[in-house]
Order: sequence, then C-alpha cells, then structure tokens
Amino acid sequence: MANLVKKVNYDCPQCDQYHEVEVYIQETQSVMEGNIVTHEETFYLCPIENEEFTPAKVMNQNLLSARDAYRESIGRLPSMKIREIREAYKVTQKEFANLLGWGDVTVQRYESKTIQDETYDQMMKLVYDDPQLALKELEKHADRFEHERYLEIRDSITDLIKKNSLNYYKKQIIYASYIDFSEPSDQNGRTVMNLDKVRNVIHYLSHFSSKLYKVKLHKLLWNTDALAYKMYGHSMTGLVYKYHPLGAVPVAHEELLDICNDLISISEEYIDDYTAYRIESIIPVDISYFSSEEIDILDEVIRKFDQVGRKKKSDHTLEEEGYSITKQNEIIPFSLADKIRAF
Ligand SMILES: [Zn+2]
Repeated sequence: MANLVKKVNYDCPQCDQYHEVEVYIQETQSVMEGNIVTHEETFYLCPIENEEFTPAKVMNQNLLSARDAYRESIGRLPSMKIREIREAYKVTQKEFANLLGWGDVTVQRYESKTIQDETYDQMMKLVYDDPQLALKELEKHADRFEHERYLEIRDSITDLIKKNSLNYYKKQIIYASYIDFSEPSDQNGRTVMNLDKVRNVIHYLSHFSSKLYKVKLHKLLWNTDALAYKMYGHSMTGLVYKYHPLGAVPVAHEELLDICNDLISISEEYIDDYTAYRIESIIPVDISYFSSEEIDILDEVIRKFDQVGRKKKSDHTLEEEGYSITKQNEIIPFSLADKIRAF
C-alpha cells in the first residue's frame, strides 16, 4: 500500500508540463546479493496521466534504502552510520579511508553504493567505539597525510578520547554485566539487550515524563519492558532487572545512565534528608527511531505513572503476587510480568 507523503511542483516527464505531482512512499522488496530485502521506496505520480515515475535522484535514494535494508539484515553499518562515524572524527571520506590504511575511494563507495565486507565493517565499528584505536590507526598511517592536516586530525581524535573514554569503559562494564544474558531468555524478556535501544528509551521517558527521578525512571523502564513482554512476548530493551525494595532496578543501572550524558542531565536534589537524582532530557527526541507500537507502550507507561504519582508514591505494579516470591538482588523473571495486575 502506498502512502501519499506530499505534493510538489515538478517538471513532469509523463505529460511534459510543469505541474503538481504526488509523492508516495511504499514498502517494497528488492533482491540484494541474492537475498530478498524489504525496504521503503519513493515514487512520483502524475495525477493528469495517472502514471507513476521515479526521478533519477529518487531512484538512487531507493537503491540506497535497499542496500541499507540489506546491510541491516546482515548486521552491517548502514551508510548514514558510516558517515556519522567519519564525521565524529571530522575527516573527509578520503581521509577516513587513509586513516584506516584503505584505498582512497573505499569509504566513498561504502557511503554511496558498495556494501562493505565484514572485515571493513568490523574495523569501522571498532574505530567508532574506541577513539584510542582511531588514534593508533592514524599514527600508523601518518605518512598518508600532510603533516599539518595530520596534527589537526590528531587533535580532534584526542578531544574525542577525552570526552568518550569514560563512556567507553562504562560501556565495557555494561557489556560485561550482560554477558550472561546474551541469549533471549525469561531474564531479559526474550530480547538480547540493545544498548542503542536502551539509550533511546531512557531518552524518551526522560523527555515526556513529568518530574522524573532515578527511582521512577527504573520503574518506567521495567514497566515498559514488562508491558512489551505482555503484549508482544518480548521486552523492548532487553534489560535485566533485579528486585529492590523500591521496585525493579536494571542491572548496571548507574553505567546505563552515565552513557546517556549526551541525551539527559542528572542533578542532585535534597528532599527531606535524602538525595534524589532528578533526570531531564537535554535534546529533542528522535521519534522516528521508534515503531508506533513502541510509542504506544511508552506513552501508556508514562501516562499511568504520572497519574499514580499524584495519588501515592508506592509502586503499585510490583507489589503484586509473584514479586514477593523473588528476593532482593535476585533477577525478576519476565514470566511474572503476566501476573502483574496493573496491565
Ligand atoms: Zn504530468
């Protein structure tokens, strides 16, 4: 089914007139390297002749979208992500290729048409996660750069190291904490933890929930995952939760919040005689990251908790039967989510 997304004035090739044409997006399937992939494609429609056509530029976008769908299906970086990695280091396509010791046009081809081999893909992922490695690679291939430019690039990588190294080590702690949960199970709600998803969910909850503190955020996360599990048979983030007197708490919760420091701020507030950690979103949320089912779940959880917050402070979702059979610091099995009355 095609969805009309906009109307534009266009030099129509169907009837050779300049007039308003309709722009549609539809789901389609393409064959990429022998595999069928599903992706979005855009086409134009001339309402006068009722004929479809695809301008060359749009055709290229459609091809890129097919390639990215294929990349995603085999776990490779999409073209946009490659560009993002390169831009994080403030280098051109050619410079990024040289930094990694590759041929001049390698990165340019990966950003436009060629699907990268696994080895190249792995290297870009490693360099993205670890600016120290990027620095080593740059030093190894220093002779490929003008000295002045080499120093500039080294400076921007060094800046990134200073900014990112703490996050890098925290991510390692998170991955180590989840190493026992690398398969779908009752403990992770049949979803393997996806750090990017966790970050985006934390951001969404922080952005749209009123008066958010750390304890409430943990509850929102658990309820989001529990509701997703209850509705679709798998949790949203893959986080693993432990029993705590105040409610469910995700494993590695401190590091999880720390690595969101580009999305949220955490400030201390003194309430009576304890310290509360106020969480606020600091940048707009990219809604397109989520499916409409996911947004429904997140909004439902936020709505429920903002209502409860006005009435009473105790956690009404986890005091139910089932919760009491697990003990403090033990993992809460998702099979209990079905027994939670609130949903
Ligand atoms: Zn026309």
